[in-house]
This record gives sequence, C-alpha cells and structure tokens, in this order.
Amino acid sequence: MGDATASTMTIGGESRTAPGTFGVVNPATGEVHAQAPDCSREQLDEAFDVASKAYIDWKTDESARREALANAANVMFGAAGELAPILTREQGKPLARATEEVLGAGVWLEYFAALEVPREIIQDDASAFVEVIRRPLGVVAAITPWNFPLILASWKIAPALLAGNTMVIKPSPFTPLATLKMVELLNTVLPAGVLNAVSGGNDLGKWMTSHPVPRKVSFTGSVATGKHVAASAAPDLKRVTLELGGNDPAIILDDADVGTIAQRLYDAAFANNGQVCSAIKRVYVPESLHDDVVDALSGLASAAKVGDGMEPGTELGPINNAPQFERVKELVADALGSGAVAATGGRPVDGPGYFFEPTILTGVSEGTRIVDEEQFGPALPIVTYRDVDDVVARANATTFGLSGSVWSGDADRGAEVASRLECGTAWVNAHLILGPSQPFGGFKWSGVGVENGPWGLAGFTDIQVQHRSR
Ligand code: NAD
Repeated sequence: MGDATASTMTIGGESRTAPGTFGVVNPATGEVHAQAPDCSREQLDEAFDVASKAYIDWKTDESARREALANAANVMFGAAGELAPILTREQGKPLARATEEVLGAGVWLEYFAALEVPREIIQDDASAFVEVIRRPLGVVAAITPWNFPLILASWKIAPALLAGNTMVIKPSPFTPLATLKMVELLNTVLPAGVLNAVSGGNDLGKWMTSHPVPRKVSFTGSVATGKHVAASAAPDLKRVTLELGGNDPAIILDDADVGTIAQRLYDAAFANNGQVCSAIKRVYVPESLHDDVVDALSGLASAAKVGDGMEPGTELGPINNAPQFERVKELVADALGSGAVAATGGRPVDGPGYFFEPTILTGVSEGTRIVDEEQFGPALPIVTYRDVDDVVARANATTFGLSGSVWSGDADRGAEVASRLECGTAWVNAHLILGPSQPFGGFKWSGVGVENGPWGLAGFTDIQVQHRSR
C-alpha cells in the first residue's frame, strides 16, 4: 500500500528525509497509505537557520520577489495533475475539488505577485519628507490544518514572501504529503532557503512557535491550538496571525425564497464535507419556512453521492481523520439522544473509511452541542426562531465570530440584519464566497488578524517611518 517514492521535506532547497517517519492514512480506506518524514529538532534548527540566511538577500529586491511569485503561480497552474491525487488520497476530497484547490493556490500566488508593498507619503513640505514604509519581519513559521492544506498554505506563502520574509511551513500530520510536494515544486523557481517545509506531529508545531528564530507565527487551525500558539509566541513577542474555528450562523428571513436559496445554503454547509472553517454550521429559520427549508436541504443532502474522492462522480468524500469522524458521530448521536430528528442521514456509512451520511437535523436548539460547538463535518442543525432581534442575539451568543450570513428577498433588509452580526465576514444571500483580495479573519475566539488582500500582506510586515528633515 505504500507510495513508491518516499515523501521528503525541503530544507535550503534540498530534499531531505528525516530520522523517522509517520504513517499517513487514506480516509477513504482507513489504512496507512504512505509515510511522511518526522522532522527532528536539529533539522528544524537547520530549516530556520537556512531561512534566516536566505532572508538577507530575499528582502532586498521587491521586483525579483514579484517575478519569483509569478513563476510560482505558473508552477501551481501546471501541477494539478501531480498534486491533486496526492491531496485526495490524504485528505479525502473529490479529485475535482482537489484540482480546484491546486489551481486556487496558483490564483493566490498570482494575485500577490501583482500586489505592491505599499509606501505612503504622509508629509512632503518645507520642513520634512515623511514616508510610512512596510518592512518584512524576518523568518515566518507557518502552521496549517488538514481541511485545505494547499490553498491555506498559499494564503501564507504568497503574502509573506512578497513582503520579503522567508518561511518554514509545517502542514498537519493528517495531510503532510501534498504540501511537501508543493513546496518541493515551488523550490524549482525560488532561491534556496526562502521556502522550507518540514513535517511531523503536533510537537513539531510547539517547537516552531517557541523557537528563537521566527519573528512571526502564521497559524490556521482550531481555537484550542490557537491559544497555545499565542501563549507560546508571547514571551518572545513574536507577531501572530491566528485563523481559527467558527460556528457560522445562516439566518433566513421570512421573505426569502427557499427555492432560490436552497442550493447555495446546501453548498455552503456541505462544501468539503462540512470541513470548512467558515461553512454554515447552524441555520436559523422562521417557523413559517421551517418545513420548506428542511425538505429542500434534505433533498439535496440525500441525493449527494458519497464515496472515495478518487471515484468519478463523488460529491462528498470521507471525513478526514479518525478523531474528527468520532467527533461528528458523537455530536450527531448527542443531538438525536436529546430529541433531535434526522430529516436525512444521521449515521456513519457502513464499511471501511470515515464516511458519514450527509445529515440534516431538526428539533434542535441552543443547549445542544451540535448547535453550540463547531461540528466541522457533514451534519447541519436547523433551528427555528420567531423574532429577528432575538435571532441576531442568538447568532451572536457565542465565543466564535468567524462569519455569518443573512438570506432575504430584500437585499437591503438582509444587509441591515447582517450588519448586526459580530463576525469577520457577513454575507447577504451568499456564504463562503472568498477571494485573494478580500480580507478574511475572525472576531472573538475565531482569530487574531486577517489574511488576504493588502490587509493580509500588512500582517507580514512592521511599519517603519522614514523621516527626512529639510
Ligand atoms: P489543529 O489546531 O488541531 O491543528 C492545526 C495545526 O496545528 C496542525 O498543523 C497541527 O499539527 C498544529 N499543532 C497542533 N498542536 C500544536 C501546538 N501546540 N503548537 C503548534 N502547532 C500545533 O486544527 P485542525 O484540526 O488541523 O483543523 C481544524 C480547525 O481549523 C477547525 O477548528 C477549523 O475551523 C480551523 N480552520 C480555520 C480556518 C480559518 O481560516 N479561520 C481555516 C481552516 C480551518
């Protein structure tokens, strides 16, 4: 079952094995299908050391960086055939979605290759010329989760490198392989040491955040780990960007046309099998629309083709890993045990792999774990409400604040309600629409800072004022 070619890390432009390896499971089978290098402490030291040395030249020439990033984008555009199957086998997503993810990483690199690092003149008169300049920070430690390993890596790599930083990146131990290969391919167009990739378990992440070399930690993952990362970075005053979990509400107003919005709601809840930080995780419906919404979403969920992502026609793959599979099973069982009804689904699929039936739950409300917590899987609770002020308060009554949406036949009315949501992105008649120019981040425990656009780029810089007296 093992891959013919062993996966390798990239340190200083060179392919490197590690003293040990760890198994990577294919979630469609539940079996270990490949081995990944288990980076040693000495190798991590070396990666940070070569990144520090590469920083000396890399920070000096913005146009050279822009050109290198444009070349990196082209590498990604040509790499879908190689990277997408690796991603599907370790992550589970259908091959077509994995292909989109590879190309999406190219789009992000292309966007940042064209972005200017801003310089702003704030005074130009007889007494002084004063400019606000963005300076790179140094070496960045990047840590990514298992749901979108490549696209989320590109959200960090592209702006960090454009700003003049160098990087050591660590993917999740559940999905190391596609990222290692991506970094290997990008190293064909980047100077040695600018972008390094290491793989290992959670301890490797801890070593990175407490290491003296990196000046910034860019982290995407769970709230619990994000708090550890912040604590670990604090004694050294490392800059941190934290993109953490969400429990996104979708509020349907009483004037919404269910037939028009059902597919969009379903797509935003079940994309990537529900394993998206900003997926719809709870739907609030007025009682008058409850049955129509449940029928429409159940129809779409029950028709979805669930299977191995390598099989043509698969729409939803497995849940990525055993702990997450157990968590989704537990949250659905807990809801059903407290009086919820599965309008469709509700059970794991018989057989090997971490497959779970796409599930629509009714008869649930706050106080049930699947409404209050982030399920991060293919199970969606539908919750009723009577009053708009009340539902806004309920949507906001959480420590999460990543994103949310309001659905209405009147976009202005929808926007008014959306403006009352306490979250980083508030959509109207849409959800989960993201792009490289659009800043993305969370309120409250959903994060610190933003990624993407000029605002994300700024997060990889410190401000320097240059004041020339006249
Ligand atoms: P996780 O927090 O378990 O792991 C994320 C990464 O952190 C992995 O690479 C892991 O090895 C590493 N890690 C674990 N412990 C660490 C430690 N103590 N110090 C440093 N690194 C450590 O998250 P996950 O289960 O891989 O991902 C799912 C979570 O990520 C969900 O909560 C989801 O909402 C969130 N997420 C957020 C965004 C966003 O942009 N806001 C995007 C995708 C996923």
